[in-house]
Amino acid sequence: MTPYEAFRRAIRDLVTLAESDIRDLWRLVKDAGPDALHELLPDIIDTYGSAAQSIAADYYEDLRETAGVAGRFAPIIETPATTGIGSLIGWATAEAASTESFQSLILGGVQQRIVNQSRDVVRLSSIADPRASGWMRIGSGKCDFCTMLIRRGAVYTKKSVDFASHPTCGCNAAPAFNAEQISAVRTEFVESARRRSEETKAEDNKRVREWIASNL
Ligand SMILES: [Zn+2]
Repeated sequence: MTPYEAFRRAIRDLVTLAESDIRDLWRLVKDAGPDALHELLPDIIDTYGSAAQSIAADYYEDLRETAGVAGRFAPIIETPATTGIGSLIGWATAEAASTESFQSLILGGVQQRIVNQSRDVVRLSSIADPRASGWMRIGSGKCDFCTMLIRRGAVYTKKSVDFASHPTCGCNAAPAFNAEQISAVRTEFVESARRRSEETKAEDNKRVREWIASNL
């Protein structure tokens, strides 16, 4: 297994643990609605988010060493000012038509917040590290939007570029250190043979163009 895949798996395992904590909560507290979630979700996100940050920092340092990059660099760990739980709960409450859909929206939002903390460590470190030229997107391309972005194989160099993600998106970031390592990241992605409808393709193309237009 490549270090890129091992990293994405470690983060995914972490999310699985967080989700099982939340499911336990739903089992234990009958009708654990918005109030209980306001109380408990920030702790869950903090706990698993900081674990995601340290996994990402180790991954960054290991890749840096393996790529033979000179000098020392301490990965950048910035904890978000807010977990954004209020807006997640408000959104899920407004959108969901059933308890099941409410719960799945919450789980997706928690997943996104935890994984974002690992993406940010790689993204911010890759920009700040004088020996890195930026970051790249890694993933298995489960959806067409992500497939298209991964397939571009771009190295993002601006701090202003956010990581485009959606709930349950398993994509993450890799630092770009040198030509050899960059091409290793690019060959990491093997496109699935799954056929895509022309309509979906056009729609995703549009989303990708919009994202590129506003970020790059
Ligand atoms: Zn994705």
